[in-house]
Amino acid sequence: MEEKQYDAIVLGGGPAGLTAGIYLSRAKASTLILDTGTIGGQTVLTFEVANYPGLETTSGYQLSSTMRKQAKTFGCDIKSNIKISELNLEGEIKSVTVNNKITYKARSIILATGGRSRMLNVAGETDFKGKGISYCATCDGDFFQDKEIIVVGGGNSALEEAVALTKYASKVTILHEFDHFQAFEHAIETAKSNPKIEFIMDSRITKFSGTDKLSQVTYKNQKTGEINEKTIDGVFIFIGYVANTDMLKNTSVKLNERGEIITNDQLQTNIDGVFAAGDNRVVRFRQITTAVADGTISALNLLEYLNH
Ligand SMILES: Cc1cc2nc3c(=O)[nH]c(=O)nc-3n(C[C@H](O)[C@H](O)[C@H](O)COP(=O)(O)OP(=O)(O)OC[C@H]3O[C@@H](n4cnc5c(N)ncnc54)[C@H](O)[C@@H]3O)c2cc1C
Repeated sequence: MEEKQYDAIVLGGGPAGLTAGIYLSRAKASTLILDTGTIGGQTVLTFEVANYPGLETTSGYQLSSTMRKQAKTFGCDIKSNIKISELNLEGEIKSVTVNNKITYKARSIILATGGRSRMLNVAGETDFKGKGISYCATCDGDFFQDKEIIVVGGGNSALEEAVALTKYASKVTILHEFDHFQAFEHAIETAKSNPKIEFIMDSRITKFSGTDKLSQVTYKNQKTGEINEKTIDGVFIFIGYVANTDMLKNTSVKLNERGEIITNDQLQTNIDGVFAAGDNRVVRFRQITTAVADGTISALNLLEYLNH
């Protein structure tokens, strides 16, 4: 088995991982970013980013390409589409074995593996993702100015985001699979008292359709079996978030009940030399700017850890 040594390994090449790579490499720490998918993470899926300070509207692809280029300019090694065969985070030297072929070792590691919104997994959802279907009101709300939209979900996020979306949309229909909500009472009351919000209860979307972009949803009443169609400009889905932490199952990294990594303010996990950054940790807001900030904080703390 071939072996290579670095000062730091970053798992995940989204905004958090790339930012950590920029800071670490610029500080002359030899750094390797390993990504099991595409460099750029969720940003690559983002058609238009309008809320990254200092940049006018840009594409997610462009933003992540620039971050990647910046990290490489400072000497960061970056490998995408790898398969992790073994991960060892205990002890002074951490190691990641890739494709059963090569083991990368480092004194410190940043887990920046991000996450993904829970999908409904119904016909057409993947086709219209970013073309009328969104999982982020903060990111995409203003693209639906004076449009009619559906919000799917019945928890606090769904109800709060539905209210927030009434700032843009002409009408918001909350579609929920049960006859009651799982949100706090005040969130339910606020949504119910909003004149722009209507409700479809006991129903599940079964199909998304359209040509270039989403224009119609089909939904089924769970109690009566009745099937309906609705013409719509957009659908926001808020049915939960999944942190990419499966690879930590056989490690002792502490996770919360939702599988998100627990860190302190320095973004250290419970294991010495192991940090976490971005959407995979316990955090209230998940944005490019928050991931980038996490990348910075984790990298600077990692450098201190290496120096001591
Ligand atoms: C459709 C969409 C639109 C969005 N629009 C906006 C917007 O307009 N503005 C905004 O601020 N935010 C937006 N967001 C949110 C933003 O993209 C995320 O908050 C941000 O990308 C999180 O960065 P991250 O680096 O923590 O994780 P991610 O971007 O999720 O990157 C994590 C990376 O880790 C890799 N990975 C996963 N598991 C492993 C593993 N085991 N080992 C190694 N690598 C692994 C993944 O392949 C991925 O490349 C949007 C999100 C989506 C889905």
